[in-house]
Amino acid sequence: MKEKYIAATYPGRKKDDLIVIAGAGGFIAGTLIRRFKNSGFKNIRAIDKKPLPFWYQRTEGVENLSMDVSLIENCKRAVEGAVEVYNLAADMGGMGFIENFRVECLRTVLINTNLIEEAYKAGAERYFFSSSACAYNTTLQQDPNVRALKETDAYPAMAERGYGWEKLFSEMVCQEYSVERGLKTFIARFHNVYGPNGTWDGGREKAPAALSRKVIEAVDKGTNKIDIWGDGSQTRSYMLVNDCVKGIDMITHCDDLEATPINLGSSVLISVNDLVSMIEGFAGVKLERNYQLDKPRGVAGRNSDNTFIKKMLNWEPDTPLEEGMEKTYQWIKEQYEDRKTGNFTPAGIH
Ligand code: NAD
Repeated sequence: MKEKYIAATYPGRKKDDLIVIAGAGGFIAGTLIRRFKNSGFKNIRAIDKKPLPFWYQRTEGVENLSMDVSLIENCKRAVEGAVEVYNLAADMGGMGFIENFRVECLRTVLINTNLIEEAYKAGAERYFFSSSACAYNTTLQQDPNVRALKETDAYPAMAERGYGWEKLFSEMVCQEYSVERGLKTFIARFHNVYGPNGTWDGGREKAPAALSRKVIEAVDKGTNKIDIWGDGSQTRSYMLVNDCVKGIDMITHCDDLEATPINLGSSVLISVNDLVSMIEGFAGVKLERNYQLDKPRGVAGRNSDNTFIKKMLNWEPDTPLEEGMEKTYQWIKEQYEDRKTGNFTPAGIH
């Protein structure tokens, strides 16, 4: 079986169809825009509430709009004429953010609620929603040697408080717009995404970027020490952002996946301790580890069961972690050096 359609090969998808991407000033949506641009799409509208200088990436030839899509009047303008709408806008971050800012996470519900309504009214053909593995039942994730999560593990529901419940509710909204109103919706549950152009400092960064920065800092400042949240035994799987945006494209153009949440993540599990060792290898150092047991650490283990995505798309995210992490580490090192020379590095602030 061949890999499924992507936008560039989808029958009837024209290169001048308007594609609207929300959250475009952030990590994943910014990379998704480059994917569509590089596949020849000419009509892309990028939206983010941050002022333009703060966007992590800006792609030439794209209509960039700085607007808050939690407000319905802005959503109307955002999706005017859209053929496809991708919602990757969210008030989110790593464990440090989602455990301490649950209200912000919950209020993100306004974005999807308003954007999908206006996308439907505007007659969009396809609507994509970025859900998360945090929507899964947390009672299944209490062991570092966790059983990989499959799509049916979201219910009975016991999602991550705040962030996870917002995702679960918004998934349901997408499903009902398909069933009751005929808007084709597509839902991916991302497991941790990492890569160049992501947040690497400022409080919202996730483990791969945070640990890379800490190793770089320890070497630069000569402290020879690294702080690790928890005891380092917690396990996760990590997907390179390029795999993520390829998956988003394939999922959104697979009609058999309409209104069907699907895992989009790597199925290779690694502990935080082993991730630190990998990064130390890139830097050529061995640091003293200071375990901070009072810091947020999230569930004990989480992995993606990729049986369903392999069946549906004949593909799964497959960039080797070491290859992707080395690129990410080098990119963060450049940002760090750049900042030291007084340059502005938008992905390092929020
Ligand atoms: P990000 O923080 O880099 O990007 C999100 C962007 O949304 C930000 O630029 C932010 O300014 C924008 N935004 C927030 N509220 C907005 C609003 N009201 N109007 C317009 N823009 C708004 O995050 P990301 O890592 O690129 O994540 C993208 C999506 O993927 C999110 O829905 C997130 O929950 C989901 N996700 C990400 C991961 C991951 O590991 N990065 C994992 C699971 C799910």
